Amino acid sequence: MARPVVAIVGRPNVGKSTIFNRLIGDRLAIVEDKPGITRDRIYGVSEWNGKPFSVIDTGGIEIDGDDVILKSIRMQAELAIEEADVIVFMCDAKSGLTQSDEEVAQILFRSGKPIVLAVNKVDNLGRHDEIYEFYSLGFGDPIPISGSHGTGIGDLLDAIVEILPELNDDEYDEDVIRVALIGRPNVGKSSLVNAILGEERVIVSDIAGTTRDAIDTPFEKDGQRYVLIDTAGMRKRGKVYETTEKYSVMRAMRAIERADVVLIVINGEEGIIDQDKHIAGYAYEAGKASLFVVNKWDVVDKDDKTMLQFDRKIRDHFLFMTYAPIVFLSAKTKSRLHKLLPVVQHVAEQHNLRVQTHLLNDVVSDAVAINPPPTDKGRRMRINYVTQVAVKPPTIVVFVNDPELMHFSYERYLENKIRGAFDFEGTPIRIFTRRKS
Ligand code: GDP
Ligand code: GDP
Repeated sequence: MARPVVAIVGRPNVGKSTIFNRLIGDRLAIVEDKPGITRDRIYGVSEWNGKPFSVIDTGGIEIDGDDVILKSIRMQAELAIEEADVIVFMCDAKSGLTQSDEEVAQILFRSGKPIVLAVNKVDNLGRHDEIYEFYSLGFGDPIPISGSHGTGIGDLLDAIVEILPELNDDEYDEDVIRVALIGRPNVGKSSLVNAILGEERVIVSDIAGTTRDAIDTPFEKDGQRYVLIDTAGMRKRGKVYETTEKYSVMRAMRAIERADVVLIVINGEEGIIDQDKHIAGYAYEAGKASLFVVNKWDVVDKDDKTMLQFDRKIRDHFLFMTYAPIVFLSAKTKSRLHKLLPVVQHVAEQHNLRVQTHLLNDVVSDAVAINPPPTDKGRRMRINYVTQVAVKPPTIVVFVNDPELMHFSYERYLENKIRGAFDFEGTPIRIFTRRKS
């Protein structure tokens, strides 16, 4: 299920990042368990009343010039209007209503997007008089919150999930593989799209009628149907903020949520930087199938070891994604391009793979026999049985006598054994431990 995106917009210093951390606080701890995931605080995943959503703090998009604050907050608003499903517009009770608040409110108002107005720094909830002036913005009841004290956050979450849209996943047939290309600006995403579509025996289809047409490109190759997600977004150019990291992450979030398979495009000429990791980390957290595409391979000085060396570099940087295959190619010369779609097809199959319970239990029993779970304070975890409860991504539940006894390293061991037996190449696997004695 695609998660809706919530963006926080507001002047510098109103407390956006403080509230962002409050919103994703609980979930963050879970994700931090996984070694190698960069905690960049650019995006986070939250859930309230069983409704999951992604949050992004659009602050910190910096530009130069006069009126910097107003310009940058206008950009945030514009970006949020384009990319988010719900916008949290944040003001500050301590500084009161300002002129830039009013200007941005007008932009947001005209967009017709669902808006939640939050007034931060209401540190004393008794002092409701602090929020009255914000009624004039026209977004209904302002929600008083305090990032410092953590008060009002529940009310804010209630207001967000109340207007969160249901995103439908069935905009394309089940047998269509939805592919997103993500990566920093200039790694060659749009060149790669053009190269794929220009390939021999690729039939670009025009399914008329849906609004998605304008931004997605459906095509067929060797009897398999694909759709490239948000190709229009990739071609878009020119706005000042389009080169900023937050912008590319935010664009990527949407595409990733709608995709089955995510192509993480890396510039082979430049190597890997942190920004590549932020985007890849999101694909991992969203539970999508992934592969690395090392592009511009034509301009890399190569000998017989270069590919292996780059391979190692990727593995070192993306410890959480050892399952993702790597394809080296050149969008420009089209060399090795023919290798790409077969890998996309393969990882899509693995992402949708369902393993029979008895086979899964055989593998886990063997794994336990070779390497029994460690004891904790004299108690040993007993695994009763294991079953796969979902696909996309494959999700496995391990029933044990006491879930507290499951350790990350043992879970990792089981995952490796399961991968060894059933492949699951290119897809994350979710493992949950539940009590059943
Ligand atoms: P951002 O620039 O909008 O992301 O704002 P920050 O989250 O960085 O916060 C700006 C400043 O406001 C920091 O010094 C915070 O400690 C402070 N701040 C955040 N929330 C509150 C609050 O609820 N009450 C008060 N008094 N200060 C706050
Ligand atoms: P995007 O911003 O990720 O969509 O990147 P573009 O597709 O616009 O490519 C950025 C630049 O890299 C352009 O000048 C392309 O011509 C160039 N480029 C893209 N793919 C390749 C490649 O495989 N080899 C070389 N040498 N240049 C490439």
